Amino acid sequence: MDYEAMFRGSLAELRGEGAYRVFADLERMVGAFPRAIYRRDGVAKVVTIWCSNDYLGMGENPQVLGAMHRALDRSGAGAGGTRNISGTSHAHVMLEAELAALHGKPAALLFNSGYASNWATLGTLGARLPNCVMFSDELNHASIIEGIRHSRCEVRIFKHNDVADLRAKLAAVEARVPKIVVFESVYSMDGDIAPISDICDVADAHGAMTYLDEVHAVGLYGHEGGGISELHGVRDRLTMIEGTLAKAFGVVGGYIAGSRDLCDFIRSFASGFIFSTALPPSVAAGALESIKLLRRDGRRRARHQNRVSLLRKKLDQAGIAHLENPSHIVPIMVGEPRLCKQMSDRLLDLHDIYVQPINYPTVPRGTERLRLTPTPQHTDEDIAKLVDALIEVRSSLVPTSQQGRVSRNGRPLTRTRSAHRTGSEHRKPSAETVEATV
Ligand SMILES: *Cc1c(COP(=O)(O)O)cnc(C)c1O
Repeated sequence: MDYEAMFRGSLAELRGEGAYRVFADLERMVGAFPRAIYRRDGVAKVVTIWCSNDYLGMGENPQVLGAMHRALDRSGAGAGGTRNISGTSHAHVMLEAELAALHGKPAALLFNSGYASNWATLGTLGARLPNCVMFSDELNHASIIEGIRHSRCEVRIFKHNDVADLRAKLAAVEARVPKIVVFESVYSMDGDIAPISDICDVADAHGAMTYLDEVHAVGLYGHEGGGISELHGVRDRLTMIEGTLAKAFGVVGGYIAGSRDLCDFIRSFASGFIFSTALPPSVAAGALESIKLLRRDGRRRARHQNRVSLLRKKLDQAGIAHLENPSHIVPIMVGEPRLCKQMSDRLLDLHDIYVQPINYPTVPRGTERLRLTPTPQHTDEDIAKLVDALIEVRSSLVPTSQQGRVSRNGRPLTRTRSAHRTGSEHRKPSAETVEATV
């Protein structure tokens, strides 16, 4: 086989459909968030980032950086081993205690990323619980899908946020069979939120455990930033809460929180936990500081929500359609990969605004979008500039007849993000096609 030709062929296919990914070469600037230096073809300029998952700008927070510098100077660059073999630093121990407290759980367990926490935890539970059946929301993240796949347990996919469908699927499995309901709180691409309490009711009625991915909510929602489960007052009802230290907390790493025995079980049996070097102590110290800050100070969360409302209002005034949802994620539906890329390129080239186009396989074909994530550091002026730029880009790239159209049924179409990205059994054909929604 001509291996190189195969690689080139696959990449050409991706380019052909406008889904080839181009990384933006960015240098984030401490003290100037959300600004960054952008480089291309030997030219550098300052741009404003509008698509960061550093939702609160904690990645440049002076106290977080101070904690990291101190830990770096005290303990050095790396952890020096896996958690079991010399790699557990005091910062890891304190961070796990803080995470448990954040979610009101007896224990927590750290992983090197949110991806690893989902993959390793679900992979281990599905493999070790005898005849386990998982019930997974059809829009669950790739890391969840891969974890379930890896476990080789049986999986039933329920319709997105559809409690009735979940109930029917649970009822179809014998009562004595171990079950886990796996879902997210804030779904990252559409920004909609799961009915956690209702899902817990159904899970309880069928003796199922519950696993909630709060990656896009921790730090952002609830009185102490414990996520939607804290906001809704239902954290005690969940068997496991999973989160990341890389998004609102601004550092890197992932975790689960749950009972002592559950965390000990994963700690003791999950290959993806056991055989990987622990996070650097400086990372653990930075994440710990970030969580402590966000637990006691709700002002950043309030300012964040304020920026989200203002952006939505300004988009409405400009007649730019965006997907309604109760979260901080503001998707502008484009519905066509090439147009989405062209809009992103023009925003960057002409307006110094960086919004990465979100294309297949991150979202289903036909639901390509610009996903805006306002932060507390985006000023009124930043928002005004963004909206003006979007108006200019729309008038130069989108035919007038298609401007402001949302979809056939009057709602922007974004269902079935699904797992095209991984080619797993979650895969669902995109039933609906967006006409053009900008
Ligand atoms: C980003 C993300 C993850 C993975 O977290 P990382 O810390 O970035 O590895 C898991 N779940 C969801 C829903 C995510 O969006």
